[in-house]
Amino acid sequence: MSKKIGTKCVQGGYTPGNGEPRQIPIIQSTTFKYNTSEDMGKLFDLEASGYFYSRLQNPTCDTVANKICELEGGSAAMLTSSGQAANFYSIFNIANCGDHIISCATIYGGTYNLFAVTMKKMGIEFTFVPPTITEEELDKCFKPNTKAVFGETLSNPSLDILDIELFSKVAHKHGVPLIVDNTFPTPINCRPIEWGADIVTHSTTKYMDGHGAAVGGCIVDAGKFDWMANADKFPGLTTPDDSYHGITYAEKFGKEGAFITKATAQLMRDFGSTQSPQSAFILNLGLESLHVRMAKHCENGQRVAEFLNSDDRIDSVKYPGLGDNALAKKYLPNGSCGVVSFRIKGGRKVAEAFMKNLKVAAIETHVADARTCCLHPASATHRQMSDSELLACGIYPDLVRFSCGLEDAEDLINDIKQALDNI
Ligand SMILES: *Cc1c(COP(=O)(O)O)cnc(C)c1O
Repeated sequence: MSKKIGTKCVQGGYTPGNGEPRQIPIIQSTTFKYNTSEDMGKLFDLEASGYFYSRLQNPTCDTVANKICELEGGSAAMLTSSGQAANFYSIFNIANCGDHIISCATIYGGTYNLFAVTMKKMGIEFTFVPPTITEEELDKCFKPNTKAVFGETLSNPSLDILDIELFSKVAHKHGVPLIVDNTFPTPINCRPIEWGADIVTHSTTKYMDGHGAAVGGCIVDAGKFDWMANADKFPGLTTPDDSYHGITYAEKFGKEGAFITKATAQLMRDFGSTQSPQSAFILNLGLESLHVRMAKHCENGQRVAEFLNSDDRIDSVKYPGLGDNALAKKYLPNGSCGVVSFRIKGGRKVAEAFMKNLKVAAIETHVADARTCCLHPASATHRQMSDSELLACGIYPDLVRFSCGLEDAEDLINDIKQALDNI
């Protein structure tokens, strides 16, 4: 029976048998017992599926990954220790030293740093493109060594919407997958796979957990990208892996399983950015109410955005639900998220004074939490960037990122009012 999204939030990934626990069990065990060395050897050869060490896979984590997989409409998924680990693995699973990636420039500051600084040191080169790029211009960015295209459905903090259909069309024309970070809308408001994305990543730290309790990430594979049809580009998936007795992931696990199996068997084995079963349990509690909470976050976001838009002390407001936004109508018809980005008249100093005056909203690095929080990206998450890099990411020095929580909208608006009055 096919289920709707809310039912998947509550019950996805886990169906207890007769007499089994109703809530998902936390398997707090690093290791798993086998009767013979031969049984265990089969796991090490990827000849049998099963658990042997929680650095690679854990049943609690897999249960929660399967729920997110159902929510996104994917074929396989894995949890990671953080959103950063998810985005790193999603690219490092298919790109090596000497390869090239095209990424939208409007992305989270941590991801930008990962790509432009750390992965560059690993020999992977990135070209950053504006989200408004045309098909012809995007076409021209491809090189023979380009291995993927990356973007955020709804960028943090600039709230630009990725034209997923356009980006996936051009990526596929060049024989590479589109990777989409879907953290802000969550699968409640947008499912990138339905628009042609091949790999979807998440910082589950944000709305999915939703209570500021557990850092985590997730990677979902749509199971649609044909690695074998582009075999020369992706040797890691299409030629034998010596560290697993010569298995070829794309042959043995097919389109549906190759990407996540390789990321688990190689990257988790070697880097170990695994999520703890305790964190996965907390994440699952968040997921159980994700569909209910997102509606309230969006309602609060809309009301706060409309208030800010009507106040002449505010220079400009960015929120997908304002004005006539064609991409919002197409990709986010039921709402976007609770984050509103705006610029205050008077520049950086006024923005800082405004934030200091807030009483309900707190200054935090965090975003997408039950409690309203706000941040001045230019002096925090995006601090390492030059002014020109900031502008390319859609960040102005006076930009405030205001993340509406689950409080009453009246209280949030009154808080903003008094903070503006007291500047
Ligand atoms: C926060 C965030 C990340 C990084 O996630 P962590 O869980 O903090 O590592 C990646 N992408 C987006 C869009 C984010 O908002």
